[in-house]
Amino acid sequence: MSVMRMDLADTGSPEGLVSLILKHEPNFRVPVPIEELALQLEIEEIAELETEGFEGGLITDSNRSCGIILVKRGVNQTRRRFTIGHELGHFLIANHVPDEDGRFLCSRQDLQTLSAKEGDRRAKMEVEANRFSSLILMPPPKLRECFRKQPSPSLEHVFQLAEEFQVSKEAMARAYADYHPESLAFIIVKDGKVGRIYHNRKRFPFITASRSKPVPQGSLFYRTNLRVGTPSEINERLPDLWIDVPRGQRAPTLSEQVCLQKNGYALIMLWHEECDEEQEEREDMTARDRWRAQQEKYQKG
Ligand SMILES: [Zn+2]
Repeated sequence: MSVMRMDLADTGSPEGLVSLILKHEPNFRVPVPIEELALQLEIEEIAELETEGFEGGLITDSNRSCGIILVKRGVNQTRRRFTIGHELGHFLIANHVPDEDGRFLCSRQDLQTLSAKEGDRRAKMEVEANRFSSLILMPPPKLRECFRKQPSPSLEHVFQLAEEFQVSKEAMARAYADYHPESLAFIIVKDGKVGRIYHNRKRFPFITASRSKPVPQGSLFYRTNLRVGTPSEINERLPDLWIDVPRGQRAPTLSEQVCLQKNGYALIMLWHEECDEEQEEREDMTARDRWRAQQEKYQKG
């Protein structure tokens, strides 16, 4: 590695930092060597966190001349990697100020914070550190390469990429929804109830299913033949199970895929395909024309 911390000076945003790091490290491999990168960027040491109730920490001084990353003992590899990415984010983002002098302490909840209310400075720092960690562990150009190779979305692909990038399935589902060219959403289900929802807000319509309410009746989730760890087939469902379909408009196609997981968890992928004129025109094409158009699209992509 050759990137230096001074190469990143004056860059305040997670996106800016990650794109600079990638510019200096064009041959970044996957899984991203996050510990090596932290040490390269002047983190002195990655040590065990002794403070109960926290997931990670960063010891530093006010002008960030040094940094030690702390990670909770005994966590699995994917969590450890995400925490290191998060703390490295606090270290590199210049305007992040610790609560106590010279010390960041981050809880499990901090590591899941994805949005902050206006004026909530602390939450905003956590959001940015999480964004940095996601971007550096799953660099968008690397993800796009994977999507070009395998353009059809599926939970199998999410799980495969989670392994390849050494991130949790949930972290990968979040990045997948953001960067996959198809319009996708992922729903985390716990004990039959709708939990966290990840989707690209620009492309995926508003999801009407409410948090903490049971998964809507009619979902594939209620199939009786599902097995833990094995994704179901991808199947079309009535779109208004999950989204609002305005009256008088042609309904889009909404497909679902479900995978039950351990401890009462499940992951649902929703795939939304707009029914627009362009698509109707495409239906007149021959299979071969469609194949060609696809190829062109991916080559450009
Ligand atoms: Zn934090």
